[in-house]
Amino acid sequence: MTTIRTTCQGCGDVELSTAEIALELTGAGDAGSYRFSCPNCMAIQVRPATRRVVSILLATGVTYEITLAAAPITEAEIDRFAEMLDGDEWFDRLTTAS
Ligand SMILES: [Zn+2]
Repeated sequence: MTTIRTTCQGCGDVELSTAEIALELTGAGDAGSYRFSCPNCMAIQVRPATRRVVSILLATGVTYEITLAAAPITEAEIDRFAEMLDGDEWFDRLTTAS
């Protein structure tokens, strides 16, 4: 069984099995964060995972999930939003929405 050594903020170095670590990748693909609960103090720890850490964790068989980062808001969307705020209908639409 592969043992992964990491650190808990409270306890220092801890060793975990791959099953105890959950990796979360952002939509960008090659970086993210990983989560584990410390075997000593049970605190949930979240650590940023660089590209290198991600590839190491994946190679050891850690399960992962992909969180899709929302696409950045475009200039055009902001303009459209500002235009809508200038009009009067948005408030009516808000209050009549069911
Ligand atoms: Zn701990």
